[in-house]
Amino acid sequence: MNRANKNVLVVGGAGYIGSHTTLALREAGFNPVVYDNFSTGHRDACFGTTLVEGELSDRDRLVSTLRDHDIDGVIHFAALIEAGQSVVGPLPFFRNNVASTLSLLEAMQETGIRRLVFSSTAAVYGNLPDGKPLNEGLPRNPVNPYGHTKSMVETMLEATASAHGLQAIALRYFNASGADPQCRTGERHTPETHLIPLIIEAALGTRAAIKIFGTDYQTPDGTCIRDYIHVNDLATGHVAALNNLFETDLPGIRAYNLGTGTGHSVREVIDMVRRISGRDFAVLEEGRRAGDPAILVADASGANRDLGWKAKHSGIDQIVRDAWNYALSAQGESFRSTGS
Ligand code: UDP
Repeated sequence: MNRANKNVLVVGGAGYIGSHTTLALREAGFNPVVYDNFSTGHRDACFGTTLVEGELSDRDRLVSTLRDHDIDGVIHFAALIEAGQSVVGPLPFFRNNVASTLSLLEAMQETGIRRLVFSSTAAVYGNLPDGKPLNEGLPRNPVNPYGHTKSMVETMLEATASAHGLQAIALRYFNASGADPQCRTGERHTPETHLIPLIIEAALGTRAAIKIFGTDYQTPDGTCIRDYIHVNDLATGHVAALNNLFETDLPGIRAYNLGTGTGHSVREVIDMVRRISGRDFAVLEEGRRAGDPAILVADASGANRDLGWKAKHSGIDQIVRDAWNYALSAQGESFRSTGS
């Protein structure tokens, strides 16, 4: 396959995972085009990649973009992502993540583009009682509206694949974290709701304290366990999925977990930030956050078997170090932690 001839539309490519994936696509020889409304994404995260400003809901703009750039395949990242926020304000999640995705699927159908990699999530599994690594054969049973929106899109892809020959891979991310080791891009959400950047803000002193949401879970230290996966590993997962779609030409939708198989508790992550940053900060114990499963850890053997993908940069120390260095660089500090 000659990747230089493969034009890939990266919808939501200016966001956190999208911008790292766009860099990885370029490094792998693909020719990405970013489509984004820049509501939460950043133009400066795109580094000279062709940008098209447009809404996910704008079917006509998507059709013309797919045609004008002679697109061969699509990666779809554009979505609202805060699980906790989706519990208190669900409707924008259904509007953005579900309804607007219909425009993309219609535009792809109209232009005859069949290959799609979709950003899904471990939140589609919901709260499984035994806390074992989750495999893709488990039923989808989300416990928050965000997880429902991603599960609903997977259902839409299944129906579109069987009716119209869509060739799709849904990548179910566990906890995206870390940053480009060269600090070209990183995690910049406003407001920030994710654990690692919030702890880092506490370490930098720009946040008074980190709050632990729940200390009474059925886990060894009472706090939630998550499978943290380096954003650059997620990026190479998308490249592997796209390679697979171009090489196998398989119709249907397949879902793959992207995670490490190892979980870390909230307290363990806090301790790692203390160690990497060398700074201390206040920790407050609060009640549970609505919609949080106790344990989410991936069985990622499917992606390894079928896509030849494995996490390589996702030790929790490396994740925290890269996130810390990115936060320092964003503050204009020259100090770099090498960790220890
Ligand atoms: N969390 C926390 N304090 C915070 C933010 C998150 O204790 O300020 C917990 C959250 O309850 C969850 C874990 O950290 O158990 C990871 O949350 P995050 O929002 O980063 O990702 P999610 O698992 O919701 O996708």
